[in-house]
Amino acid sequence: MEDDKSLQRIARIAQQLQPAQNNICRDSHETEGGIAGMPTLGVGLPALEIEKAFPQATPATTFPAAVSDYFQLDDLLSEEERALRNRVRGFMEAEVAPVVGKYWERAEFPFELIPKFAALNVSGGTIKGYGCPGMSIFSSALVCADIARVDASCATFMMLHTYLGMLTIGLLASEEQKKTLLPPLARMDHIACWCLTEPDYGSDASSLNTTATKVEGGWLIKGQKRWIGNATFADILVVFARNTQTNQINGFIVRKGAKGLRATKIENKIGLRIVQNADIILDNVLVPDEDRIAHINSFQGTNEVLAVSRVIVAWLPIGIAMGVYDVCLRYLKERKQFGAPLTAFQLNQEKLVRMLGHVQSMWLMGWRLCKLYDAGKMTPGHASLAKTHNTRVAREVCALGRELLGGNGILSDFYVAKAFCDVEPIYTYEGTYEINSLVTGREVTGEASIKPPVSNRKKL
Ligand SMILES: Cc1cc2nc3c(=O)[nH]c(=O)nc-3n(C[C@H](O)[C@H](O)[C@H](O)COP(=O)(O)OP(=O)(O)OC[C@H]3O[C@@H](n4cnc5c(N)ncnc54)[C@H](O)[C@@H]3O)c2cc1C
Repeated sequence: MEDDKSLQRIARIAQQLQPAQNNICRDSHETEGGIAGMPTLGVGLPALEIEKAFPQATPATTFPAAVSDYFQLDDLLSEEERALRNRVRGFMEAEVAPVVGKYWERAEFPFELIPKFAALNVSGGTIKGYGCPGMSIFSSALVCADIARVDASCATFMMLHTYLGMLTIGLLASEEQKKTLLPPLARMDHIACWCLTEPDYGSDASSLNTTATKVEGGWLIKGQKRWIGNATFADILVVFARNTQTNQINGFIVRKGAKGLRATKIENKIGLRIVQNADIILDNVLVPDEDRIAHINSFQGTNEVLAVSRVIVAWLPIGIAMGVYDVCLRYLKERKQFGAPLTAFQLNQEKLVRMLGHVQSMWLMGWRLCKLYDAGKMTPGHASLAKTHNTRVAREVCALGRELLGGNGILSDFYVAKAFCDVEPIYTYEGTYEINSLVTGREVTGEASIKPPVSNRKKL
């Protein structure tokens, strides 16, 4: 009986739909009359613009005002720092927010933005001279956080270029190498990437397998790298390889187009989709003697660079969380349910306040980390704690934001879904959450536990 009623209802709906089929739009691939035997209903209907489909809330192409500074932490900034931060913030909101979502969807890099990032004059970060801005670590962190506030992929792109690629040269290259390599990188005429991770060695990077063999006039580099951001188009590849004579890690500059170099984009990422991560094959690439990075004689060189870049990485989740909070507050004020804005509901307020508290605590930890760095008191454990804490907490901010936006929480148009996905790789890169926890754990307990006890390893 119930079944009969259902069938009648379906038949009625089908009848009502019948005349509408005459008005169905067809896309250019469809032949007159549709594909034989296939219903044409709905095929080729153009998607509504998000503003028209969902008039009650503003999408992230118009980025909201920054409202997460509840404890007036801006008071801790100098005039100069505030001006710099505001310049970057204005640029990100006006130039990047309107276009970046589409690039993220297509997993393409926005090359149109490179000259605009160059004009900010922040490439080179803390490096002094050679056309670099020589900013303080705190100014650098503020810049990166505000880039991440609108788009974490762009922040990662800048971080890889400046705080890994350029910084390795700035800290560990010879004077001659710095003079040649850094100015075009500072102007962003050249883009850098940093190649440490290998398919078989991620967290265990110091065991890397890529080799550098001395030959007359240079070095032959042979091996494979994985996950290397910017590598599909980078002009300068900073490559770490094991010297076959000393068994120590050395660093090399490999240039775009070098014979034997192949970089292939890693497809299907769910986060940081704009960042072009690549698998790299180095098939006996010849690097001339002058392109061996002068002062990298062991894995310690890598650690020197990571000590600085990890401070910056700890600020990316701060930026992401600020952006999520800003978007959520605006959205909840604009969207109404049960006759009231979503801000009026207690459960939503609790989530917002939890997010706000996280932003304050992350920011304060990041700020203190920079001050410890300036005073020469920062340890690897400090930087690792900030990275683990901030990425863990930012994940919760993104998850809460995703809930607060309801269905729109899974659409990149409203930013939070993009942030939700982007925070995942940041949780993992530059030392996973676990590895960074163990770095701090080693410092506070005096017990090293990153490598398993030898006895356990033998049993496996
Ligand atoms: C988007 C993205 C961008 C990246 N960009 C670059 C780049 O530009 N250049 C570059 O060189 N690399 C880059 N990486 C690589 C990144 O640094 C590595 O992914 C990271 O170090 C983890 O290595 P893995 O993925 O091989 O994981 P694995 O090392 O295989 O780890 C898998 C899991 O095991 C855990 N684990 C491993 N060892 C231990 C241990 N001793 N104790 C406890 N837990 C452990 C990890 O924490 C993790 O949860 C990037 C990665 C991503 C995802």
